[in-house]
Amino acid sequence: MKFNTKAIHGGQKNIDPGYNSVMAPIYQTSTYSQSSPGEHKGFEYSRSGNPTRSALEKALASIENGSYGIAFGSGLAAIDAVLKLLKPGDEVICTNDLYGGTYRLFISIFKEFGIKFHFIGLNEAAAVEKHITNKTRLVWVETPTNPMMNIIDVAAVASITSKHDLLLAVDNTFATAYLQQPLDLGADIVMHSATKYLGGHSDLVMGSLVVKDKELADRLYFIQNASGAVPGPQDCFLALRGIKTLHVRVQRHCENGRAIAQFLKQNKHVGAVYWPGFTDHPNHAVASRQMSDYGGMVSFTVKKGTLQSAVDVLEKLKVFTLAESLGGVESLAGLPASMTHASIPKEEREKQGIVDSLIRLSVGIEDIDDLMADLEQALE
Ligand SMILES: *Cc1c(COP(=O)(O)O)cnc(C)c1O
Repeated sequence: MKFNTKAIHGGQKNIDPGYNSVMAPIYQTSTYSQSSPGEHKGFEYSRSGNPTRSALEKALASIENGSYGIAFGSGLAAIDAVLKLLKPGDEVICTNDLYGGTYRLFISIFKEFGIKFHFIGLNEAAAVEKHITNKTRLVWVETPTNPMMNIIDVAAVASITSKHDLLLAVDNTFATAYLQQPLDLGADIVMHSATKYLGGHSDLVMGSLVVKDKELADRLYFIQNASGAVPGPQDCFLALRGIKTLHVRVQRHCENGRAIAQFLKQNKHVGAVYWPGFTDHPNHAVASRQMSDYGGMVSFTVKKGTLQSAVDVLEKLKVFTLAESLGGVESLAGLPASMTHASIPKEEREKQGIVDSLIRLSVGIEDIDDLMADLEQALE
């Protein structure tokens, strides 16, 4: 099956043997009756498994070209589960401009438990090799990165991790399975904040992992059940419904993102524009190779350069909503320095280009003329 068909039908055969409903029913139940102790129809208790969640997990596996989907109560809960594959003393190599919450989870929680993190610029995949020790277990990659839109060559990193027998996990939240398939590029784990494009309507918080390997899947299912950060059936239903339109939504996000990036580039009040579709983006060639389009995320700096100049622009926007998060049908704008990335020390932030005047846009699927007019008046 091709992607657009999988988004709608992937893993959804016989979803409701009782009544043949086309959509997975919302099994709003914590438990299931047993005919005799231990005899049941595959579900015992909804932390361990729920039919609505199973339907979603199968859909996730299908769109990511994986074999096993594992859903969590948030993106961070999914990342937390991956880190729980490790032991004190183990080492992780990761991108230095990670999503702020991922950075906080690594540094404030798992570092305290004795896991060592190397944050490095991964623009050159070969940099990974320099930081590998006999304690390294996991390489964590986010691409495109948030909010600087750096691109990491997943296949190049995978060739190194497979040589050294390390796990490679890719946060695919920005690109989505529609634009980029990390498992096909050699990653072992693909992670999503399903809160963003997969859900797509800013109405839920959820995370997911997809893997190909059975043994790895079993360990992650064990952690999902043992730690218990599972999503409820209502949210699973919404995510499943979101995935069914992922391809059409992301197509329009990409179209509008391209138009906004080009508009900003020629606006006299704008400094730098970060979008991997520009031919002068440092990793444009890699982006073109591993992604089928460039996505709907665009970051830019206000030319004046001050925090106040960015605040002024954000306060004047009318169609773009000033809010955290991304990936919904509506356009959102944010100030990473004081919103999504406030948990990263200022000095660290600025090293990565997250200056005070940097604005991040999640370009939605409204009419492009309205979006451009909104930015134009705010920048004036
Ligand atoms: C939002 C986000 C996360 C965290 O996901 P939650 O669902 O908010 O827990 C992780 N990575 C990226 C790239 C994100 O945008």
